[in-house]
Amino acid sequence: MNELTLAARVERLGTESAFDVLMRANRLAAEGRDIVNLGIGQPDAKPPATAIEAARKALRDGDHGYTEPPGLPALREAVAADLDRRLGVDVAPDRVFVTPGAKPVMFFAMLMFGESGAEILYPDPGFPIYRSMIDFSGAGAIPYRLEESRGFSLDPESVLEQVTERTRLIILNSPANPTGGVTARKDMDRLVEGLLEHPQVAVLTDEIYDRIYFDERRPPSLLEYPEIRDRLIVLNGWSKTYAMTGWRLGYSVWPCELVDKVLRLAINCHSCVNTAAQMGGLAALEGPQDTVSAMVSEFASRRTRLVDRLNALSSFSCQPPGGAFYVFPNITSTGLSGRAFQDRLLAEEGVALIDGTSFGAAGEGFVRISFALDQPRIDEGMDRIARFVSNL
Ligand code: PLP
Repeated sequence: MNELTLAARVERLGTESAFDVLMRANRLAAEGRDIVNLGIGQPDAKPPATAIEAARKALRDGDHGYTEPPGLPALREAVAADLDRRLGVDVAPDRVFVTPGAKPVMFFAMLMFGESGAEILYPDPGFPIYRSMIDFSGAGAIPYRLEESRGFSLDPESVLEQVTERTRLIILNSPANPTGGVTARKDMDRLVEGLLEHPQVAVLTDEIYDRIYFDERRPPSLLEYPEIRDRLIVLNGWSKTYAMTGWRLGYSVWPCELVDKVLRLAINCHSCVNTAAQMGGLAALEGPQDTVSAMVSEFASRRTRLVDRLNALSSFSCQPPGGAFYVFPNITSTGLSGRAFQDRLLAEEGVALIDGTSFGAAGEGFVRISFALDQPRIDEGMDRIARFVSNL
């Protein structure tokens, strides 16, 4: 044993602690504990019935073979039509790529741009896989902070001031995991204006939560800025919008210049996405959208109630999230670190949530609570949290 010599990059890979906490919570539940899982990162809604039926039909009808690596042509056209309908943007279907979930889009972007000597900017707190994949690629990982005082909405100056001649890629995420922060249109305008001075910098915009927002106005998409189209990678998919996390179905839009590169990465990596899942995804896009609106209005009412309950406790201060299905309250006045709060709450009260530092150093003093579970369970979790903090 231990004669194996691994590539150094493997040691640099990080992880997503939400999965670790989920496994610990599941172990406790298997031992008979009643666990309230507020760590969950997927909607509790059901996928559209039309999607399920289309996937079943595909399997029955013999759609068992490979598809073209970028995805079924009809599905890529449907994605382009959906972007046109929702955002009023004209995207050529041959720039759309379907992937097994949206995560490979991060992987591919980081493999394309990241190497020793390059720098990639990413949000802190932010989705942990960004940092992990930057490290894996060998590039320097440069965090830009999202501030609680701004409701965790992106400050364009804090991004632009970190751009150097080594910067190759900037990662953006709005609405954001773990904070629910949404980038304001005026800030996006300013960011794009600033980026015009740095034509060598590409942008990866993670818009996977774009349909889950609580303001009247939808969050702006970077696709609405033609001036950076030729260096913009858009990540999106079916996981959150249609509650289809386990189907592993995502999509991305790439600059023309990179289409051939992503095709090669896809062929080297996964060949194509499960055909029945693609047929299901097509039906979800083309069918009634009532499951989406019902899910979002349910999230909106849970969010209001959760934020109110947290702010009623003196140990918490909680910004209302603009989108996604998480709150990111400040817990510094409990006197516990985020990690201690997470571990003790699970052990003592059987409530799982995620320590803010799982999302970057700037997450210290915060925890992520998901409201993607039914209201009675959220209430039960909150009762236990209230008891836990009152006993501290
Ligand atoms: N991007 C963000 C910000 C996420 O929170 C997630 C999942 O939690 C993903 C991407 C990954 O999506 P998928 O499950 O489609 O790979």
